[in-house]
Amino acid sequence: MKQIYLDYAATTPTHPDVVKAMLPYFTNVFGNPSSIYSYGQEAKGAIEGARAKVADLIGARGEEIVFTSGGTEADNFALKGIAFANENKGNHIITSSIEHHAVIETSKFLERKGFRVTYLPVDEYGLVDPDDVKKAITDKTILISVMHANNEMGTIEPITEIGEIAKEAEIYFHTDAVQTAGHIPVDVNELGVNLLSMSAHKLYGPKGVGALYIRKGTKLTPFMHGGEQERRRRASTENVPGIVGFGKAVELVQQEMSQEAKRLAYLRDQLTKGLLERIDHLRLNGHPIMRLPNNVNVSVDFVEGESMVLNLDLEGICVSTGSACSSSSLEPSHVLLAMGLAHEQAHGSLRFSLGKWTREEEIERVLDVLPRIVAKLRAMSPLLKSHR
Ligand code: PLP
Repeated sequence: MKQIYLDYAATTPTHPDVVKAMLPYFTNVFGNPSSIYSYGQEAKGAIEGARAKVADLIGARGEEIVFTSGGTEADNFALKGIAFANENKGNHIITSSIEHHAVIETSKFLERKGFRVTYLPVDEYGLVDPDDVKKAITDKTILISVMHANNEMGTIEPITEIGEIAKEAEIYFHTDAVQTAGHIPVDVNELGVNLLSMSAHKLYGPKGVGALYIRKGTKLTPFMHGGEQERRRRASTENVPGIVGFGKAVELVQQEMSQEAKRLAYLRDQLTKGLLERIDHLRLNGHPIMRLPNNVNVSVDFVEGESMVLNLDLEGICVSTGSACSSSSLEPSHVLLAMGLAHEQAHGSLRFSLGKWTREEEIERVLDVLPRIVAKLRAMSPLLKSHR
């Protein structure tokens, strides 16, 4: 049976050209980039090449990019780095209630360390209101962190508007762009951010490598202590093959981004329309327009998301109930709850995320298979019986 992979927001397959670009850095060019002889310097040159590509993707300068072990580390670095470096100015952080766990859990950690965190609410579409950001600012606020687009329901947040507010109030502004960089235009100056997180494995690069953009002049405490790598901002011998792969992946997505976003948005709309037509008591979660071109998130009443995922898996179709990290937990998604969904609706959610190798036939197959699965599950559902 041909597998249909519709979970690109969880991770993407590494592009074959990316693997090819990485291979020499495991074998021939294995030197430590800190070594001054040519083996080392060749590796260093490759890192700098990748840095320039990553910077170019987001309109930054090379020296403003610090490579990390992924999006999670970039988020941790941004929040803890700003918090600990600016404690003397204040102890208040503003974030949203729909952030990725990498931001939410770091915020909770900082609360335990004596910082105060405001978790802003969102509306029914998952949008943060910039006015709420403005109202939450106090003279103790040192950081605002709001994600560019949500990984579960795909809503794109008004980052430029929030950036203007942050700039006027002279408060550092961080955005988690893990789901947007390489998929839709991301420009640090247009967004008005001081810090921005990225991850390679969401854009056809390898896992375990990411980056934090740090605007020149931003005061933050290093997160990793040790050697002097990454201009003393992140100790540890660099993941050379990973960084090279990240650079290659960025180069490839950049070439195709606008075409690919259009293609995916068309498929996304076909899938959404088809699901709404063929399955009753189904609603689209997230904003109908301000959303990622590859994300469809729906709640299906009277069925469990997990049951749908397992039944789709038996048909060779991979989707997710929420974000990859929460899909192994039985807690309903904090994102959907924050948008006002009832627990049952949040439990009955499915996330489809489309990508480079998604084809129209695959969407048609989902539209053929899922209504049958839902009908079968509803026929056995105690939830439906109690509704009637
Ligand atoms: N932030 C967002 C919005 C994400 O979707 C993810 C991954 O799911 C992360 C952060 C974490 O990235 P990584 O898996 O590279 O640590």
